[in-house]
Amino acid sequence: MDAERWQTVVIGAGAAGLVAALRAAERGKRVLLLEKNPRPGVKILMSGGTRCNLTHACDNRGIITAYGEPGKFLSSALAAFSVERTIRFFNDEGVATKVETTGKVFPVSNRATDVLDALVRRLRRSGASLALDEPLTEIMLPSPSFEGEGPEGRVRTPRQPPHPNPLPREKKAVFQLVTPRRTIDAEKVIITSGGQSYPAAGTTGDGYRWAAAFGHVIVPPRPALTPLTVSDVWVQRLSGVTIPDVAVRVLDQTVELARRRGSFLFTHFGLSGPVVLDVSRAVSGHPRPASLVLECDFLPAKPRAALAEELKARTASAGRKLLLAILPEELPGRLHEALAANAGVRFDRKAAELTKIERLALVAAYQQQRIAVTGTRGFRQAEVTAGGVALGEVDSRTMQSKLVPGLYLAGEILDLDGPIGGYNFQAAWSTGWLAGSSV
Ligand SMILES: Cc1cc2nc3c(=O)[nH]c(=O)nc-3n(C[C@H](O)[C@H](O)[C@H](O)COP(=O)(O)OP(=O)(O)OC[C@H]3O[C@@H](n4cnc5c(N)ncnc54)[C@H](O)[C@@H]3O)c2cc1C
Repeated sequence: MDAERWQTVVIGAGAAGLVAALRAAERGKRVLLLEKNPRPGVKILMSGGTRCNLTHACDNRGIITAYGEPGKFLSSALAAFSVERTIRFFNDEGVATKVETTGKVFPVSNRATDVLDALVRRLRRSGASLALDEPLTEIMLPSPSFEGEGPEGRVRTPRQPPHPNPLPREKKAVFQLVTPRRTIDAEKVIITSGGQSYPAAGTTGDGYRWAAAFGHVIVPPRPALTPLTVSDVWVQRLSGVTIPDVAVRVLDQTVELARRRGSFLFTHFGLSGPVVLDVSRAVSGHPRPASLVLECDFLPAKPRAALAEELKARTASAGRKLLLAILPEELPGRLHEALAANAGVRFDRKAAELTKIERLALVAAYQQQRIAVTGTRGFRQAEVTAGGVALGEVDSRTMQSKLVPGLYLAGEILDLDGPIGGYNFQAAWSTGWLAGSSV
């Protein structure tokens, strides 16, 4: 079977791949975008509860800071395709956007399909060719010493060890790609196959194998932005209760591994909500997740002494009121009842009977409630994958591999994961754009 020839093949039509492909095609390249699913952008459709939180309302520095130390890798990508440019890109395609109080940016329509449709429309206009239901199964690069002698038996496949000497930059390598339908020669390849979270969405970590075979170090992938499991029955009984503002700390004995503040949700298996997802990486990355504890402050806006004073004053003036009537109104009754039980305080009684010891036990339950974690819900329910292709081996000014000229990597396949809030899409759009600008 004769191989087709393309200037650029992009592997994976998710957020990064769609942008990389349309950008490269708009620059005049002949581009083929391969996607294993029958439709592109599956995660875009699932995202933000099907509303797609497409970026965060901040400047580029805000995005970089949210990623912590590795964030500086994104500087050039954001300079090429900033938050502002992202919003303009979608607005120009007819997707009006809005900023919510959390800083999250959504389409005004609250429809993730509008975001995906805009990308697919622009991809079509760009002239890039989109092949659906066509997974890449193999990628090979002729060894430099055999160049020109034909591909048979003289190629590095992902099953073989990495080539000790990267190709000299000036040589024009041709990648050979295999799908169930055809073989393809490509001058440039952009891998945007994502991570390995939500494998049912098509992201099964394929790209890590190819990158590793080309000699790239893969920082061990682990789930991030994933719910936490807890076996305490009181937690599971509160399933469905949401608290809008909770401060949580992940503790390993007395050492704090992560802290965050935001919306919190009790579930039938444990805990979820943005604040829990945001600290989950500290749990999934720990060698003994079940040894960790989540310390929750359900009233983070109140200093501890003020809460203690407030309860004291309310107890003194409670008269014949029941205990529930003097407890902080911002929390739901079911939570009060559970926390009182945890504090060893009888709930169904008159407030005036509350002793000082009980009052202080309640304050501790509200603001230092410890919940033993048993683990996470894993990759199956992780919104992103932490770990991936080590950043040191990718040129952040172009997204080109430092080991294999002509190979580019963008999006979640890289060892970068951001918090909840649109940061992960922004990294995917920006690195995809930069890769498409560089091929
Ligand atoms: C439930 C959920 C909600 C989310 N909500 C948000 C949100 O609101 N805001 C936000 O910023 N982030 C959100 N994220 C994270 C965000 O979706 C990802 O960070 C982002 O999609 C990464 O983009 P990507 O292009 O690198 O990878 P992906 O979007 O995962 O795309 C990778 C593509 O490659 C394809 N592929 C894989 N292997 C092959 C192969 N062998 N051949 C061909 N194609 C292949 C996959 O099918 C997929 O289409 C959410 C994630 C999930 C799971």
